[in-house]
Amino acid sequence: MARYNTLLYYCYSTIENGEQFAADHLKFCKDLGLTGRIIVANEGLNGTVSGTPEACKAYMDAIHADERFAATDFKVDEVEEPSFVKMHVRYKSEIVHSGLRDPNIIDPKKQTGKHLEPKEFMEMKDRDDVVVLDVRSNYEHSLGKFKNAVTLDIENFRDFPAMINELAQYKDKKILTYCTGGIKCEKASALLLHEGFKDVYQLHGGIIKYGKEAGGKDFEGKCYVFDNRLSVDVNSVNPVVISACRNCGKTTPKMINCANPECNEHFTQCDECGEAMEGCCSDACKAHPRKRVYDGTGYYVKVPQPVNTSKKGKT
Ligand SMILES: [Zn+2]
Ligand SMILES: [Zn+2]
Repeated sequence: MARYNTLLYYCYSTIENGEQFAADHLKFCKDLGLTGRIIVANEGLNGTVSGTPEACKAYMDAIHADERFAATDFKVDEVEEPSFVKMHVRYKSEIVHSGLRDPNIIDPKKQTGKHLEPKEFMEMKDRDDVVVLDVRSNYEHSLGKFKNAVTLDIENFRDFPAMINELAQYKDKKILTYCTGGIKCEKASALLLHEGFKDVYQLHGGIIKYGKEAGGKDFEGKCYVFDNRLSVDVNSVNPVVISACRNCGKTTPKMINCANPECNEHFTQCDECGEAMEGCCSDACKAHPRKRVYDGTGYYVKVPQPVNTSKKGKT
């Protein structure tokens, strides 16, 4: 049995008094001994948490016992270590930041693309009348994406609405959207429908569930994830590496955060360049005075930055 589990999930469901719910939920998670990151908004829950299999089961049972969240679909990974160090529950205006805050325009609880289970998605995706659309950002799809997927040049999901015009050429096709765990697709597909796309589908449970239930066939590269694993393998059927080292161009699946805390950019870097660059994306970052110590993982726990006291100490 795995030593720990990591859960990924979301649920669009109205939460009255979300701020209070977030405070209570934080205590509940801490009492269970979980670590992770959960976003609470009046439109629902979005989280990834890590803990012992017992703690994770207790958490899933509690969520499912709440009628607001009874339909929540958990993606469960087995991990050797917890995927987080701390437990955060934050109250925000949206559970995934899209910039579309008006629920009268976009409300996944009312209208969203048709959900496709992984096997259905696999059967449909190569048809001539289908366009597969990756709604994720550059740092995600550069590490891995579905073969032949349309990708967008965006740095953040909140830039997605502005890119819709680029997709007008596909208006007569069936659009199949996908993202990491499915949550972005709820809004992206709802927005596409609102913008006049007629036939919009979304991969239910995202790339993560597709990897578990359909073997990840035709997903090329790795899947970026928002915890200290940085990326996970998806494809056990016909895997390939598509990402290249930013510094030398060599094919590598390794994704890291730049060791310069003020840059912190996510990028791909091979082990050799990691060592040579000390985990930095550029010479400028390598020369940064607050550069963090590169331990080969390229993941850094967010710690409060020490106050610079060297000047005060001098007399
Ligand atoms: Zn390299
Ligand atoms: Zn950098």
